[in-house]
Amino acid sequence: MEDVITCPACNSTNAYFDGVMYICPDCMYEWSPEGAEEESNVPKDNNGTPLNEGDDVTLIKDLKVKGSSVTLKRGTKVKGIKFTDNPEEVDCRVEGMAIVLKTCFLKKG
Ligand SMILES: [Zn+2]
Repeated sequence: MEDVITCPACNSTNAYFDGVMYICPDCMYEWSPEGAEEESNVPKDNNGTPLNEGDDVTLIKDLKVKGSSVTLKRGTKVKGIKFTDNPEEVDCRVEGMAIVLKTCFLKKG
């Protein structure tokens, strides 16, 4: 059984793969299968917004810093995040401490 390809632009199921790109004959939208795969490895904030290296984020939850008595308050601004090998975690510095934050507790901006 063949997979049905759904056009992300118009939801048509007439889209087909031409060997390089997916093409939708209904709205002429073309997209690459590699792009979609890459995107899943990009860290995303709690809303699903892709994060970029160097972005500023805000905590959406009080977080206790492991191995210390420090609790970072919800609403704390974190500047200049750095990516790690894990798309669910980012490196950053808060109040002079180098810590790793889960992206699910972050909001971009
Ligand atoms: Zn389409």
